[in-house]
Amino acid sequence: MNMNYTADELAFRDEVRTFLEEKLPADIASKVKEGRRMSRDDHERWQQILVKQGWYATHWPEEYGGVKWTAVQKHIWDEESCRYGAPRSIPFGVNMVAPVIIKFGSEEQKQHYLPRILSGEDWWCQGYSEPGSGSDLASLKTRAVREGDHYIVNGQKTWTTLGQHANMIFCLVRTNTEVKAQEGISFLLIDMNTPGVTVRPIITLDGEHEVNEVFFDDVKVPVENLVGDEDKGWTYAKYLLTYERTGLAGIGASKAALSHLKAIAGRQKKNGRPLIEDPTFAQRVAQVEIDLMAASISNLRIIASVEGGGVPGAESSMLKVRGTELRQAITDLSRRALGPYAQPFVEEELALEFEGDHLSDPDGAALSPQYFNMRKLSIFGGSNEIQKNIVTKMILGL
Ligand SMILES: Cc1cc2nc3c(=O)[nH]c(=O)nc-3n(C[C@H](O)[C@H](O)[C@H](O)COP(=O)(O)OP(=O)(O)OC[C@H]3O[C@@H](n4cnc5c(N)ncnc54)[C@H](O)[C@@H]3O)c2cc1C
Repeated sequence: MNMNYTADELAFRDEVRTFLEEKLPADIASKVKEGRRMSRDDHERWQQILVKQGWYATHWPEEYGGVKWTAVQKHIWDEESCRYGAPRSIPFGVNMVAPVIIKFGSEEQKQHYLPRILSGEDWWCQGYSEPGSGSDLASLKTRAVREGDHYIVNGQKTWTTLGQHANMIFCLVRTNTEVKAQEGISFLLIDMNTPGVTVRPIITLDGEHEVNEVFFDDVKVPVENLVGDEDKGWTYAKYLLTYERTGLAGIGASKAALSHLKAIAGRQKKNGRPLIEDPTFAQRVAQVEIDLMAASISNLRIIASVEGGGVPGAESSMLKVRGTELRQAITDLSRRALGPYAQPFVEEELALEFEGDHLSDPDGAALSPQYFNMRKLSIFGGSNEIQKNIVTKMILGL
């Protein structure tokens, strides 16, 4: 495998760097780098900058306003944008429902929804998981019964990320109970403002409101909001998951988090010396860095295989497990760097405009909430145990 970028790829990297230097707002970059709270406005501002540049929908066909980047270009963007502190795009519209609409949706759905995703008019959330159906998603029970030109939807979704901001939710619903679980599921687009939809917050370990429960009580959904064919939703859901799992390894984000950790450990003192010079701590940081380099090379190996026409298979599961473990290890070390100062939760310090005295390091307040928040990485997008099952079957042949 050739590890060097081509001249065109190097030129693209320069273009990305110039764009980030000129267009990424400094306040947003600070929030991302220091792990402070991002507002809805921050996400929307950055989205519009990317749309204007033509770099928001990086895997849509050009006819819908997209730009088809190669796997290497996406990799360069991931590395550079994380390094500069650009926020990750909220994936539910642009990276999840859009590819499904493009591949399986009607012409009307494409014409209606795709421009609204680009303009930010629609904010999407994902209604897959239910209280009794996470890893075993096909057991889902939210029911949609056809009555004339509508479906009547009843049931509950859970862990709905950023559903408090969303006006649209794409849902897996049961339309047939007479067949095998996977064969009775449909893919429905639901307006969250329809009577009967209730969103309730779930406050997570980090004290933040990121996820929700969504209840459907006799919600009337027009049949034209069905994507593709009735009872074929499982096929579309699986197609969407291939997009969801791409990039879950978060190598670029881990590299940025590692630099942040080193900066903090350089400022914190142990026995009068910078913590980063403490042999035990330095050894832990070095181990994570070595593992991250190895994961990064595996990532490049998969990218090279995709560029050569291959399809990422169980290797992405392997990378998801390793990448998320590493990110969690980095947040653990960052929290440890603060020692006892990592314990108190001073919520006000999470705001960029906070002007009071910091308890320890100026970037310290966010480290514990981040540590707790990052527990999610090994759960969502298919838990790490489920990914290991895939690896044992498909790679080890067990
Ligand atoms: C922060 C966060 C955000 C999320 N956002 C969304 C969202 O926006 N939309 C959405 O639809 N869902 C979302 N999810 C849900 C997520 O997809 C599920 O949590 C995940 O699929 C696991 O399902 P579960 O929580 O029901 O756990 P379960 O499936 O009940 O699993 C519990 C434990 O058992 C293990 N386990 C289960 N089955 C097996 C098996 N066969 N072999 C070995 N181990 C197994 C799991 O790994 C886990 O450790 C989110 C979750 C989190 C934590």
